[in-house]
Amino acid sequence: MNEDDLDIRRRHEMVDNQIERRGVKDLLVLNAMRKVPRHLFLSEKLHSVAYADEPQPIGYDQTISQPYIVGLMTELLELKGHDRVLEVGTGSGYQTAILAEIAGVVFTIEYVPQLAEKARQRLRELGYINIWCKTGDGYSGWLEHAPYDGIIVTAAPDHIPPALVEQLKIGGRLVLPMGTIEQELFVIRKTEKGITEERVIPVRFVPLRGEATRLRKDIDTSDDLR
Ligand code: SAH
Repeated sequence: MNEDDLDIRRRHEMVDNQIERRGVKDLLVLNAMRKVPRHLFLSEKLHSVAYADEPQPIGYDQTISQPYIVGLMTELLELKGHDRVLEVGTGSGYQTAILAEIAGVVFTIEYVPQLAEKARQRLRELGYINIWCKTGDGYSGWLEHAPYDGIIVTAAPDHIPPALVEQLKIGGRLVLPMGTIEQELFVIRKTEKGITEERVIPVRFVPLRGEATRLRKDIDTSDDLR
């Protein structure tokens, strides 16, 4: 079996065993995850573990999320195929690519300039033309392109960033991990009357940096870019 066939087989096994088996049903999500070459979002020495049931390091103390968490969070956005989506925390760009397979257009913001540049280049090489990348603090969203049908945050604040709710459409969904030592995945829905909050499962994400960190009550707030 050549390398490409092996990667395709690993990808299908990943979706069958880790994602579908745990209850993700949305075919748009499952098909996107069968298609996007996750290993290409990692350094070459991690290609052999790219489809394992765990997060992997991407440098700068950050990680690419476990495949199941990517699948679950994408399903929770309830994308229909033509949505406008904002992602906070581009990281490797893997989640971005999954979103771009399903949504109409994806806007993504990354705090660490080196990661942002690498992801931008990688997504361009893979041929995505419906992704717009920006370097900066996603705490305040990306007002220029709002409102969004869905917003996904892939690092954890300890409170809901108000700007993200403001930039959601009525009927839109914000999917984010939230908490400090103990975090949970939340789905926030924006309705005519305000917001509703649903807790999904306990999770572990890196903290949301920048303004979100400065506003945290529990820790020392200096958050310099390394
Ligand atoms: N979705 C990513 C996961 C990356 S981990 C992937 O599939 O690879 C979370 C990312 O959020 C990190 O790259 C981190 O640098 C970034 N991040 C942290 N705080 C941020 C902020 N305030 N604004 C934008 N990105 C942030």
